[in-house]
Amino acid sequence: SRRPLIAGNWKMNGLKADGIALADGVAAKRRAEPDLACDVLVCPPFLLVSDVARAVAGSGLAVGGQDCHAKTSGAHTGDTSPVMLKDAGCSHVILGHSERRTDHGETDAEVKAKAAAAHAAGLVAIVCIGETLAQRDGGETLEVNRRQLKGSLPEGANADNTVIAYEPVWAIGTGRVASPEQAQEVHAAIRAELVKLVGETEAGKMRILYGGSMKPENAAQLIALPDVDGGLIGGASLKVEDFWAIARNC
Ligand code: 13P
Repeated sequence: SRRPLIAGNWKMNGLKADGIALADGVAAKRRAEPDLACDVLVCPPFLLVSDVARAVAGSGLAVGGQDCHAKTSGAHTGDTSPVMLKDAGCSHVILGHSERRTDHGETDAEVKAKAAAAHAAGLVAIVCIGETLAQRDGGETLEVNRRQLKGSLPEGANADNTVIAYEPVWAIGTGRVASPEQAQEVHAAIRAELVKLVGETEAGKMRILYGGSMKPENAAQLIALPDVDGGLIGGASLKVEDFWAIARNC
């Protein structure tokens, strides 16, 4: 009974004309299918958020940022506050993506502070977690995901203001997708941990997305798994046809 969410993370791709064309294309697909069984979100680079929000207005598509600061405003050169994202037309923000944890050294505590700020601004926080290949090979997968989840979820997280994204680092941009068994095992462990963190009711309602080399040809079997409630899609979200083929699989 959890409504799936299909989220496109465009990462640092596309100039203005590309982003608007992609947004227009996805919005047209969404408008043509008012009865779609899932929610659809696009997360463009910061500079395109306003243009994309304008392009998709009224289509039923949601727009999200890819990161935000933990403060509302102030002396933080180069950063973007959650209030600014909201003001530009966002309803969601991706937080703690493994690329930010690697490129910018983001810690669980920072992700938690950002998620709290996102909630305060009225944004849904998409909190990303996931193990590296070395951690999987070392048998630490479930422990790592539980630890990141616990460390990254702020007080007050619930199924309305928070979505979890399980993104195994070894599957991101590699073409090496998690098997259905691997994905379901971790998603079930995440939901069990959520019961402890947010209670049984919210844990039962909270969406847990899979991310990492999700494509039209593997999406259906992943999204059909009992604890997989949609996808966070990188590469395949940059092509209207591929992204839409995934959304239609819900
Ligand atoms: P890919 O779909 O390109 O593997 O990226 C996944 C991802 O990191 C989405 O946030």
